[in-house]
Amino acid sequence: MNFFIPTQIFNETDCVAKHASIFANAGQKALLITGRSSAVKTGALTHVTDALTSQGITWCLFDQIEENPSVETVVAAADFGKAEGADFVIGIGGGSPLDASKAIALLMANPDCGREILYKKATLSHLPVYAVPTTAGTGSEATPYAILTLHDAKTKRGIAHRIFPVAALVDPTYLTIAPQPVLHNTAVDAFGHLVESYFNRGTTLYNQMLCEYALKLWGDAAPALVAAAKENIALSGTTYVLLSNASTMAGMAISHTGTSIPHGLSYFLTYEHGIAHGKAVGTFLVPYLRAYPNQDEVAYFLTLLGIDTLDELEALLLALIGTVTVTDEDRSRYITSMLSNQAKLANCPYTVTEELLRTYFANNALIA
Ligand code: NAP
Ligand code: ZN
Repeated sequence: MNFFIPTQIFNETDCVAKHASIFANAGQKALLITGRSSAVKTGALTHVTDALTSQGITWCLFDQIEENPSVETVVAAADFGKAEGADFVIGIGGGSPLDASKAIALLMANPDCGREILYKKATLSHLPVYAVPTTAGTGSEATPYAILTLHDAKTKRGIAHRIFPVAALVDPTYLTIAPQPVLHNTAVDAFGHLVESYFNRGTTLYNQMLCEYALKLWGDAAPALVAAAKENIALSGTTYVLLSNASTMAGMAISHTGTSIPHGLSYFLTYEHGIAHGKAVGTFLVPYLRAYPNQDEVAYFLTLLGIDTLDELEALLLALIGTVTVTDEDRSRYITSMLSNQAKLANCPYTVTEELLRTYFANNALIA
């Protein structure tokens, strides 16, 4: 077994201000990477710039990271950072800016190389990366992964390099302004990481330890999400803390195992139909569990969540993320492509055939 998370992780209210000194030796000038508005709306951007100023560090801002960031965007951001002379990178936002920061840090440290290094296996240096997450889903603050959109290949794919943030400053209060779909979709993404890490060919006691604890936290938060949505009331601060911790722990878990079929299939729904990452992943989680040969292990996993059956889990996911539409033509293409995704297939703990993948789409309450 092996356990390795080199990221220093803080989780608390006012996290960035309280740990401003973490940036003291990070570099001279920070490249801040954000999406178009959430870093401002949450206050996270101001918290980071205040922290940098308190340490005498200058900064520049690239605020054009789109959801599911593309290779083109990270190249543009890296060019900007190089022109500005930045020597470290801080990602602020959801998984998209965080993942983009890792790819940007790689490109900036290798200015003589082109974008092709992103997907070439090689030992390359990268600038230090810091992460300030504003969603509770991807766990990117505690993973070495960076998933980018490849328009040439019409899909999404993780870069070939493992880049852990030096430090992650997690403040659950950033979640309080997240719209309901963002909260629900990202929560289901974190749950997907727990499912696909626990039931994974590479599973060990270490990632199971993380999954088991995070499942209890997530299982306490999920009914509150559903109830609050039904009654149109605000969530409690406790629920945000539960979601935030479950997400980071789930990130630590997939750092050791990777993800499997639900993530592999999700990329088609996201690329071709713009379905949010967590919702796309959530569509395939119950079928992934139904196909697992040892249903006693699945039953144990569900008890940690406080749930009795897979039907009950399906109803919970349906309440959180709703349905997607998949045509017969799409379904056949996705199945064919999935069968050639060796990396995701290798993580699956059971044999995957075309026939089995068909069951993922048949009788699936999340596919309309
Ligand atoms: P996201 O794409 O980063 O953000 C989704 C939307 O939520 C954006 O419109 C964003 O606004 C907004 N937003 C973010 N935080 C908010 C807040 N606190 N309040 C209000 N709005 C907020 O979503 P994500 O689900 O966190 O990240 C998805 C990406 O992460 C995908 O590309 C996925 O493949 C990747 N991912 C990575 C890993 C990993 O291990 N590295 C794991 C799973 C998924 P702005 O655009 O204005 O910021
Ligand atoms: Zn995910």
